[in-house]
Amino acid sequence: MFIALDDTDSTEGMCTTYLTALILRKFRDMNLKVDRSGMPNLVRLNPNIPYKTRGNGACWFYIETEKSNGSEKEKIKRTVLNFLKKYSRFDDENTNPACLFLDDEIWTRNFEILNKFYKKAVSELCTIEEADRIADTIKVEIHKFKNGRGLIGCLACLGCDFSDLTYELLVYRTEKNFGTERRIDEESVFEMHKLFYPGTFDNVNTEEYKPVFMPHGKDPILCGIRGNGIEIVNKAFSVIKFKEEISFTQIFRTNQHTDAHLMSKKISRLKQHDAAIIEGTVTENPKRIAKGHTFFKISDDTAGITCAAYGVTKLKDIAINLINGDILRLYGGIETYKNTFNIEKIEILNLAKIYKKENPVCPKCNIRMKSEGKEKGFQCRKCKLRFKSDAAKFIETARNLKPGIYEVEPGHRRHLSKPLCRYKI
Ligand SMILES: [Zn+2]
Repeated sequence: MFIALDDTDSTEGMCTTYLTALILRKFRDMNLKVDRSGMPNLVRLNPNIPYKTRGNGACWFYIETEKSNGSEKEKIKRTVLNFLKKYSRFDDENTNPACLFLDDEIWTRNFEILNKFYKKAVSELCTIEEADRIADTIKVEIHKFKNGRGLIGCLACLGCDFSDLTYELLVYRTEKNFGTERRIDEESVFEMHKLFYPGTFDNVNTEEYKPVFMPHGKDPILCGIRGNGIEIVNKAFSVIKFKEEISFTQIFRTNQHTDAHLMSKKISRLKQHDAAIIEGTVTENPKRIAKGHTFFKISDDTAGITCAAYGVTKLKDIAINLINGDILRLYGGIETYKNTFNIEKIEILNLAKIYKKENPVCPKCNIRMKSEGKEKGFQCRKCKLRFKSDAAKFIETARNLKPGIYEVEPGHRRHLSKPLCRYKI
């Protein structure tokens, strides 16, 4: 039986992964088989959605049940629902939990429908009505609370195909430490990075020299170690020195760091809240406003859009040096501000050439001739030889940018953004 949970957390705390891990621990105590791998799944969905509580992530896991054993199934469902009711943050207006139970054969038979819905939910805005329609079509057992928005994540996460995937080992705090500063030996985190990068990634920001694998949000997560394999995140965990007691750990298989949210689109087809890859030519030179936020415009053969590189990231320094005519591929999406594309990665495909105008040199005196004014030609100061204005030379000058792909640094990246160190995989 497949079990999916979503939207149980709030900005004030809790986390759907924690709830999932608690339920799995309970099931292990009950001697139930949790998947072949024993691993739950964390599926991130569109990061540009306004209703998200924190990371817009839903969880699912699989429990082996005997087909004919109805009472066992009922017991499992009751356990899940009790945990959900006990731990969800119903008080937060943005928390609208849901949970669903799906039998194996229904999942197999309807995977295509779920996969199509996942692909939409990871990159666009889905409505509760759309989710309701799918739930009706595939006849799944759903439990919705409040407005039931969590159903979107529950259905979508079960359609994730994990065509690319990573792992995150989550470390949970003991309750007595909730609300206190997280205590981890920073040097050991850098030691881990040194030993395992790029097999592990996005755990430290080497330029600002700080660990970035601890959430800014509230408890219960102490940290999350991201990596490409189960073994490597386990090894990485063993290197870290914790300066506070930890409660337990749980590895999740996840679509994080895979760019699963990015679909190539023409600019005219972009809707608000879409995540996308667009290609175009710079048609308005960059402008910098307060705090380093840098804006420019690109256009393709269908439309143009304002693009933003935010001040906290290094991408602003790439963006400010772009000029009209540069050809780019941009990875990102439209979040709060309508018609502004927030950049996660900039790929410079072609740089426009820039030229410097130079006055001609007098062939007799070998000195630089003087301009007589706009369109008035040139004259040698020494021998008074004159040339027409078309004698000016245009010298190509170097750009302070190079073609290539540039990313937001760790700590400022979206969960779904694929770091460049994973491109070779
Ligand atoms: Zn001369």
